[in-house]
Amino acid sequence: MADYKTAGVQDVLDEARTYIKNEDSLSLISRAANYAAEAHAGQFRRSGEPYTVHLNNVAYILATLHGGPKTIAAGFLHDVIEDTGISRDQLAKIFDDEIADLVESVTKIGALQFKGKDDPEYQAANHRKIFIAMAKDVRVILIKLADRLHNMRTLQYQPEASQKRIAAETLDVYAPIAHRLGISAIKNELEDLSFFYLNRKEYYRIAHLVETRKAERDESVRKMIAEISEMLEEHGISFRIFGRSKHLYSIYHKMVARNKRFEEILDLLAIRIVTETELNCYEVLGYIHAKYKPIPGRLKDYIAVPKTNMYQSLHTTIIGEEGKIFEVQIRTEDMDAIAERGVAAHWRYKEGGHYDARAEQKEIEDKLSWFRDFAVYTNDNEDETASDYMAALQKDVFEANVYVMTPKGRVIGLPNGSTPIDFAYRIHTDVGHTCVGALVNDAMVPLNTELHTGDVVSIRTLKGTGPSEDWLKFVKTSQAKNKIRAWFAKRENEKRESMAGQGEKVLTEELRRRGFEPKDYMEKKKLEAVMKEFSAKDVTDLMYGIAMKLINPTAVCEKLTNQKRSLNDEEALTKLINRETKKHVMTKTGIVVPGIESMKLSLAQCCLPVYGDKIVGYVTKGEGVKVHRCDCANVAGQKERIIDCYWEEEDNERLYDSDISILAEDRNFLLTDIVNTISQSRAPMLKVTANVNREDLTTTIKLRIQVRTSDQLEVLLANIRKVEGVITAVRVTH
Ligand code: MN
Repeated sequence: MADYKTAGVQDVLDEARTYIKNEDSLSLISRAANYAAEAHAGQFRRSGEPYTVHLNNVAYILATLHGGPKTIAAGFLHDVIEDTGISRDQLAKIFDDEIADLVESVTKIGALQFKGKDDPEYQAANHRKIFIAMAKDVRVILIKLADRLHNMRTLQYQPEASQKRIAAETLDVYAPIAHRLGISAIKNELEDLSFFYLNRKEYYRIAHLVETRKAERDESVRKMIAEISEMLEEHGISFRIFGRSKHLYSIYHKMVARNKRFEEILDLLAIRIVTETELNCYEVLGYIHAKYKPIPGRLKDYIAVPKTNMYQSLHTTIIGEEGKIFEVQIRTEDMDAIAERGVAAHWRYKEGGHYDARAEQKEIEDKLSWFRDFAVYTNDNEDETASDYMAALQKDVFEANVYVMTPKGRVIGLPNGSTPIDFAYRIHTDVGHTCVGALVNDAMVPLNTELHTGDVVSIRTLKGTGPSEDWLKFVKTSQAKNKIRAWFAKRENEKRESMAGQGEKVLTEELRRRGFEPKDYMEKKKLEAVMKEFSAKDVTDLMYGIAMKLINPTAVCEKLTNQKRSLNDEEALTKLINRETKKHVMTKTGIVVPGIESMKLSLAQCCLPVYGDKIVGYVTKGEGVKVHRCDCANVAGQKERIIDCYWEEEDNERLYDSDISILAEDRNFLLTDIVNTISQSRAPMLKVTANVNREDLTTTIKLRIQVRTSDQLEVLLANIRKVEGVITAVRVTH
């Protein structure tokens, strides 16, 4: 692994002094170093070293990238909010808003919980994208990269499980970001460190392969350098030339991904020539091609067509002495700096009267807009064709470019314009079905609210509720759409089946009434034989038709038994009427008062109890017993007149009046949507009034509906609350 320097505060200042001359800027850096040292006093790392060692080294890495004074200061301060409890505002007071914002963003990204590969939801690309989107400022990314680099360099102090997790995350998230920003120095070191911890066996195998042939290779490279140098000197071109070793992970990657043997990797012998101007680059290339045979198809002109991470260089592969193959890179000093330090070099800190942090940031934002939009990564840009690139862009920009999190930090990628409902269905189908509310960044929001990258979304559910057909109007993901439709289809089917059951009863009764033995006729085959006469496509359909009174059971009966019989089957008819009459008389209110047989019973009009409510009886003077809800204010404190009562068995046909009141933001079609919701719940509506409050543009809607049970009523209220614009929906007590 590459050696690195363990730096102290003085090293940071020395490095900064090479490109920062302004004393105020330098003293800002010292001030940040001192402040951080004081804030973290007494804290230690796993290595046993004081915590400041980490901070100093992060700041030092930023200085080697030629970061500006504020970036370096924020490097010293990057763990202050997280680890010492100092707030962003305190930092803003002591330093300034810019530094405080940098540290705060670094802290926020630190809180992201990147799930490991074992998690089925794991998508490295999502993590990279939310990382970028949340950073908003390239300096935040640089600080995070420096932070991670130092943590990787000191990973040996972590337990083995953490080493693997952190190394995997580094390889999947951090190294690609460093690559995209063109910071190859950091990218290569991160890759090799991760490689070491993830696959030590392969790491040592390749290190050994590289080592055994090193002397021989070094000798070939030395000879080639001497030859080329002599030639270029003759032509009077000024240049630097040096051999370049590939980092281990890239060798491993080529061997594995392209299935090559070590000897087959062409650019193992690599030479880099750094010259003055672009024109010099092409000149050098011309001389080299004149002297050595180039391998066809290996010439790449990244000067004319830079890579998306701004990398520029000429690449060619030539056959040298003894048939040895060399990869040659030719570039200017500026191009070389960008190749090593990427954006950091491009926007390296420039002093002088023109320096304006905001203008620089804007330039970064503009230049990096491609990065935000194009946050795609393929391992080898050289293989990236234009159409792949466009396809990836398409996918990223149009399919999944909002990244939100669960309260536990799981990253969920959703299409642009997605809502909490889309999020809920992405979490789990049942979470979607029973969603009744959503918190975004701790604030309650309407369910059609558009989500934005970085939002933390938490879903409120209520058991027993179902989706609303309204949701189909605003959900973005096809997953949510399909699940909502499936739920309604399933319910429709269940309803059909339960209706079919009723139809079966009706038909059985009809057969019996006519003196037939139902068992003999209710066979599937016999039913199928007659169903076509009634345009039913199957037996369920036939029974459903009977239950819905679309098909006459008498006619079915006649077809089935093949005989017409007179309807004057007096005996059967009388029996039936008696049974039905008895039922109605007994169950007018559906309430039983124990010990009292023939008491006049009625439901109180103030609180309108519904089957399933907790109830009490109130003995009135001359009007029998009035039944109230237990919590009705009108019976509170009237103990001596209260008697127990309870509901009889549930009866599907018994309906109870209920008054409800809805407060909503006024909008077109509000009432229509509410009425639709109620009719979907199959609750008959007896009365509706709506009043617009002109002061705050809200509407109060009062409804009298009929329901069968208090559960049905609760679900109905929950569904009403889901209608766009509805603020509250409650039962009313008069
Ligand atoms: Mn840190």
